[in-house]
Amino acid sequence: MIDVPSIFGIDVFNEQVMKERLPKDTYEALKATIVNGESLDINVANIVAEAMKEWAIEKGCTHYTHWFQPMTGITAEKHDSFLTPDKDGKVIMEFSGKALAKGESDASSFPNGGIRATFEARGYTAWDPTSYAFVKDSSLYIPTAFMSYTGEVLDKKTPLLRSMDAVSTQALRILKLFGKNDVTRVTANVGAEQEYFLIDRKMYDKRKDLKYTGRTLFGARATKGQELEDHYFGAIKNRVSAFMKELDEQLWKLGIYSKTKHNEVAPSQHELAPVFTTTNIATDQNQLTMETMKTIARKHGMSCLLHEKPFADVNGSGKHNNWSLSTNTGENLLKPGKKPEENIQFLLFLAAVIKAVDEHQDLLRISVATAGNDHRLGSSEAPPAIISMYLGDDLEAVVDAIINNEEYESHGRVLMRTGVESMPDFKKDNSDRNRTSPFAFTGNKFEFRSLGSSISISCPNIMLNTIVADVLSQFADTLENAENFESACRRLIKHTFKEHKRIIFNGDGYTDEWVEEAKRRGLLNLKNTPEALKHFIDKRNIELFERNHIYGETEVRARYEILLENYSKVIAIEAQTMINMAKKDIFPAVSKFTGELAQTIVNKKAVSEFIKTDAEEKLLKEMSELLCKFANLTDELEEKLAIAKNYKSNPLTLAEYYRDYVLSAMNKLRAVGDKMETDMSTEYWPYPSYGDMLYSVQ
Ligand code: ADP
Ligand code: MG
Repeated sequence: MIDVPSIFGIDVFNEQVMKERLPKDTYEALKATIVNGESLDINVANIVAEAMKEWAIEKGCTHYTHWFQPMTGITAEKHDSFLTPDKDGKVIMEFSGKALAKGESDASSFPNGGIRATFEARGYTAWDPTSYAFVKDSSLYIPTAFMSYTGEVLDKKTPLLRSMDAVSTQALRILKLFGKNDVTRVTANVGAEQEYFLIDRKMYDKRKDLKYTGRTLFGARATKGQELEDHYFGAIKNRVSAFMKELDEQLWKLGIYSKTKHNEVAPSQHELAPVFTTTNIATDQNQLTMETMKTIARKHGMSCLLHEKPFADVNGSGKHNNWSLSTNTGENLLKPGKKPEENIQFLLFLAAVIKAVDEHQDLLRISVATAGNDHRLGSSEAPPAIISMYLGDDLEAVVDAIINNEEYESHGRVLMRTGVESMPDFKKDNSDRNRTSPFAFTGNKFEFRSLGSSISISCPNIMLNTIVADVLSQFADTLENAENFESACRRLIKHTFKEHKRIIFNGDGYTDEWVEEAKRRGLLNLKNTPEALKHFIDKRNIELFERNHIYGETEVRARYEILLENYSKVIAIEAQTMINMAKKDIFPAVSKFTGELAQTIVNKKAVSEFIKTDAEEKLLKEMSELLCKFANLTDELEEKLAIAKNYKSNPLTLAEYYRDYVLSAMNKLRAVGDKMETDMSTEYWPYPSYGDMLYSVQ
């Protein structure tokens, strides 16, 4: 039996440990930094470093590492030991405030979108005291931000922290107008639900495609997929259950509130949901969760697949980003509440989110755009590529009432009350039924559902915080100058609902009708990554980021390039892997099979010319034709891949080339490969089948 309270957070240098181990004034100073973002004195850092080191050594650590999140989307770490030579030739274990606060790292080996080329290759990591340090594998992990020598950000944490500050600053302006002067900080919270697949390690090891690219590039569909819908919430199998138990224990030790686990729709697919926390910590914890899942799966003889679409024809994996805003006084700003005067405040924040999502559909779409996620969005298993919002029937009725009531302005209060009184409690089960919506209101939070399973949640939250901050600042500008705050506020709410009503859609997002309807409404449908990413550097987006102090223009352009390059690289690796599989494994296997089939025909005929060989001949003919096609398509893919280098000078053109030429050549090759797999004897096929993989864990 695990005693959860006694192990929870034992590997984390958290509040409790700080309180116990730091002198009171040091603790207070550190707390002020954590809560209000005040800068930290080096003397304080020295004391904290000493305490951290002592604590870490007691936990068996010999090393420390600045743990950061470069633009690769995963985390990076470089370990230094606490070891320092003493004058007598001995060693002491040392860790200074300086070493805690700042580290140096070579920035040139991380993606930087051209920033490095023009400046020094040096990069710095800076301690983020708002996310707790922790111990793992005999090292003390210190969450840090990563930037270039000249101060451009090279990571995903810095802009996230900036966006959290931006949304706090602007929300505070609004709250002040509501007389809430005691609020000093507004926090964006996130709970990230994580989907994943588990397959047997032996199967995984035999699949080059899974090993090199995370998804199957060949593979005929299994005779049984998810059509019986018998896996969702089904009983959890023993091996999986053992994995989940150990995963929970490990996550709890790391202070991660892993709470819910269940089977997902596809066979072998599962989900983990943590309890929400601040966006910054949620982002670090989601990275740790993904890492831990992989490590523990390996220990249990399995492989954890985090790719968005490991198997064709079977649902892929995503991540649901549950987002809300709360005050340091404990108020959730997205909670509808019952009292009308509080609801005006809620409706104003709701209006801000609606306007933000409508005006910046492109940025939300960009924030989830990856080669992997392109296989899911719009494929009737995940939200469509069109961004829209779902409010639920009750809340939409309130919005409609406000929009349609012509006399709202003059009798605002009375009519407002009617609208609000009819507003029932937003229970989850009546607001969360629409699983097809990319952005759904779920009672007291918004659930952004378009995220791919493997991405860092930082980018979606940077976008979300920034666009909401920007709208809140416009609202604050208007309302701060209003003669009558209350009526101005109501006017603004009504006006905003009216202007942005088009983004609200409560229907089925999987249908063709919606695609047409969305077009009529003028909503964007950015179908794939290159199409979405090209809007990243639109003038209005660069201005938005500059205005809110998130990125400078160089930084936006750098990110745009990195994301496009990543898209092209992913497809290039997939194409290379396919060619390798086609030439080295599949072609020889089918050739051998057909050769032996031919030999069988000869052997049979040798016995007697009356023995029928029609079946073998038919199969031989079919397989030989397919093999010819397969060889030609392999050549074609190779040619397409070779031509790609001609487009290298422009990252967008290159990405478009990969999308239009390389991906389509891959699809053609796969279709023939899968046909051969279907028609050929299992014994000859060089890879485990979909059935083998999807039902490998019992
Ligand atoms: P469902 O499973 O129906 O999507 P849950 O209530 O189980 O909804 O919540 C899913 C996720 O949302 C969990 O990670 C949870 O911690 C998170 N969550 C709940 N309330 C909030 C909130 N106010 N802000 C952010 N995330 C939240
Ligand atoms: Mg959910």
